[in-house]
Amino acid sequence: MDAKIAYCGIYCGACGIFLATESNELEELSKELKIPVTYLACKGCRSDTNNLCCMNCGIKRCCGHKNINSCNECNEFPCANLKKLDQRHLRDDNVSLIENLVRIRKIGAEQWLKEQEDKWRCPGCGGNICVMDKECYDCGCKID
Ligand SMILES: [Zn+2]
Repeated sequence: MDAKIAYCGIYCGACGIFLATESNELEELSKELKIPVTYLACKGCRSDTNNLCCMNCGIKRCCGHKNINSCNECNEFPCANLKKLDQRHLRDDNVSLIENLVRIRKIGAEQWLKEQEDKWRCPGCGGNICVMDKECYDCGCKID
């Protein structure tokens, strides 16, 4: 599965840390967040380069133990841990991980990835929109 499709249903391609890693802007972000670059770099959930937070992710570990591809394959889906994470992302970014996972189950991971790539692409310049800032990192325009 693509490195940008997280076990929990996050689309990593719109994450500010992922985007900063891709565009070599980690130094700047590191100063802003006061976190060393080595703990920040992230190339997506399923890559071998994860930031400190995603490296120690309980959801990912849990899927590993259960030998499943994503939370949506679990018989406890959506469990209390996932619901908690879902609430946080709903509150902070207005994105539901549970909705994403249900959608992935329905249309398949590959098709969902295409949808997400379109959703988070700047209508103005075609650049990458960050889910945290709701802003295009290339031209700076704001998205609702
Ligand atoms: Zn743009």
